[in-house]
Formats: sequence, structure tokens, C-alpha cells
Amino acid sequence: MGSHIQIHPDILNIPYGDRHRINDATQGRDGLINLASGNPDLSMPPFITERLKASLDSGYASYTNYYGLPELRRKLSQFLKKNCGISADPDTELLITHGVQEGLYIVMKSILHPGDEILIPSPHYAEYYLNAVACGSKPVLVALDEEKGFIPDFDLIERAVTRKTRAVVFCNPNNPLGVVWPRDVLEDISDLAKANNLIVLVDEIYRDFTYTDQPPSISTLPGMAERTFTFGGFSKSYMMMGLRAGYVIGPTEPMFPIKNLHYCVTLCPSSLGQIAALAALDCPKEQLEPLYREFGERLEVLYKGVKAISGVSCVEPKGGFYMFPNVKCFGLSSMDLALLLIEEVGIVTLPGTEFGPYGEGYLRLSTCVNCEQIETGVGRLIEFAKAFD
Ligand code: PLP
Repeated sequence: MGSHIQIHPDILNIPYGDRHRINDATQGRDGLINLASGNPDLSMPPFITERLKASLDSGYASYTNYYGLPELRRKLSQFLKKNCGISADPDTELLITHGVQEGLYIVMKSILHPGDEILIPSPHYAEYYLNAVACGSKPVLVALDEEKGFIPDFDLIERAVTRKTRAVVFCNPNNPLGVVWPRDVLEDISDLAKANNLIVLVDEIYRDFTYTDQPPSISTLPGMAERTFTFGGFSKSYMMMGLRAGYVIGPTEPMFPIKNLHYCVTLCPSSLGQIAALAALDCPKEQLEPLYREFGERLEVLYKGVKAISGVSCVEPKGGFYMFPNVKCFGLSSMDLALLLIEEVGIVTLPGTEFGPYGEGYLRLSTCVNCEQIETGVGRLIEFAKAFD
């Protein structure tokens, strides 16, 4: 007998993606090299671990202030001013969330009205699309072209803007593309947003992993603070993925009801995550810089290896943990190729289509394993390509 419980269509419409096919294919196989994951193999810096242990020893596990420990918000606000040039009042413009993921949901749910359109330069981080659907709005994908270095084509974006367009969402550095949009691109986005009265959602979770000139945070460009929500997190910068600590910065007036929704969703962020986040802001540079260097090296090793595969092209990655090589030369769909790579040479990758239909013909490769494994992985890819010829 069917259930009498009827789920809201917006929730039923959230697509699942096909990632489970990749997971299923890996079952029971030994010696796989994982170039798919966004969950790095490294531990938190010892400074943070020690502070967390001390906090655990004290037995502290209370609910905290709903919007994040006041001390954390204060410190974070100073940190953001110093490191990103962002001015955020810790009481009214800054909210600690259960990771960027929660932040994205509560902001999109709050600003998107049914039928609104949100522009997503694509291939894109899947969550943006899923949230747009969950909120009853219409995600509008705007293609990013490899030949243009995955830099947006503003004619294309302008043509995608309609009366119903409310917002644009993107991440910089980019997951899955590995590119970092520089100042002039952000200025163009800012002009477009101001001309069309759009809200900008920018996800800067990979900001510390920028291996080129650091672009400005778009909210610091003239006239942008009042129309921008900036998302940042502790997950990647401090290897705190499972502790679930992130934040969103936005203008006071809309932040007020958004904070209320945050309360409905989660009451308060995890106390442990916040203790770790507080420690992270005090973490000595000597424990962080090697981490950021390590990911830069991994990206270089992976890129060098991928470039050596005949027929494969790839936009040089400049930030984050990922790159997005064009693998159309194999003549297979991205999913079929990803499955074949698991079966034939034991490399796990993600089909580009996990990041939207414009990802067809591409794979997403990641740097969440060490250089040695990356080298083994690309060695296997090169052998695979030779055998395929
Ligand atoms: N945004 C991007 C672009 C990501 O790649 C990820 C995780 O992989 C997240 C957000 C999730 O961040 P958090 O762990 O802070 O929820």
C-alpha cells in the first residue's frame, strides 16, 4: 500500500544525481586511487586538536548562542576585515552556520520566491542547483566554456537575465573547474548585478587555496555589500570537514529573518565545531601554510600528469582542490568513462555531468590524496589512454 504522506513537490523534484553509480562500482575493489573525493586525507592542525581536547575535557557541550558564539563572531569579523577587506558587524551581518551548506540553503530559501530564477554559471557545485529546486525557484544554467578558460561570457549571462531573475550564485575559487575569477570578471558581475538589481551569492570556501593573485571578495567592490551574501567556511581551510562550521555575511535587514530560519533549521551551530573554529582563528601560521602549500603542489602534480595524456585538454587550475579535464577524445560519455576507469585501472573520478549537463565530456579530478597517490593515479590514466588509442 502506498504511503498517505505526500511530500511537497519541490522536495520531490530535488535531483539525486548519479554519484551512487560511482560508489557502487568501487565496492569490493582493492587498490583504488581516489581522485573523486572532496574530503581531504589530512588531519586538523595539532593546535586546533589540542584546544578541542581541552574543551572536551571540560565537558563543554552546551547549546550556544543561536547565531554563533559571540566571541567567535567578533574574532571572525576582525579576521575578515584583515584578510578579505570585508566589514561585517558581528551582531547583525555575520551568522555562524552548520557549514556553508546550511548557509546556502537558508539564504536561498529566504531570498528566492516561487518562480524566481537564479543564474548558475555551469558546470557548477551541485548544491546550488539542488537548493534552487528545493526552494521552488528555477535554476538557469549559463554555460562556461573551456575555450574561454571557464571565464563567464557576459553576453550569454545578459541574455539569460529576465524579469524573473533574482540572483546569481557561484564559487571562487571554483569547484569543480579549478579556476579563479580575477578582479575584472568580478567587476563585470558586479556591474551586471547592479544594472539588473540582482543579489549575488558568492561561495569562498576555497579562498585560502588560491594559487594566483588573490581576487577581491565581490562584496568589497563599490555598491556590492548591500546586495551580496558571502559564504565562508572552516571545513577546507582547517581540515574540519566533519565539524560543520561555516558562516554567511550579508546585509543587516535580510539577515534578520535569515537568522530566524537558521534557528528553525539547526537551533545553534555545533558547539564543538565553534570551539574548533575559534582555535582555527588563532592557529599559528606555521601549521597552516604547509597545508596550503601541500594542496598547491598536489594541484601542480595532477595538472602536469593530465597534460601528458594525449588528446586530453585541461584549463590550468589556479585554486581549490579540483580540475576539469576534457576527455571527449575517449568517445565515451563521462559516466561510462568514469565507470571504465574504475574497472580497468582502479581510478575513481567523477563524471563532469555530476556538475550539470555542460559537464558532459569532462571528468572532475581532485587532490584529496597525497602526491604519491596522485602520481600513481595519473600514471594509470596515461597507461589507460595509451591502451585506448
Ligand atoms: N561549497 C563548495 C563549493 C564545496 O565544494 C563544499 C564542499 O565540498 C561546500 C560548499 C560545503 O562546505 P561546508 O563543509 O562548509 O558545508
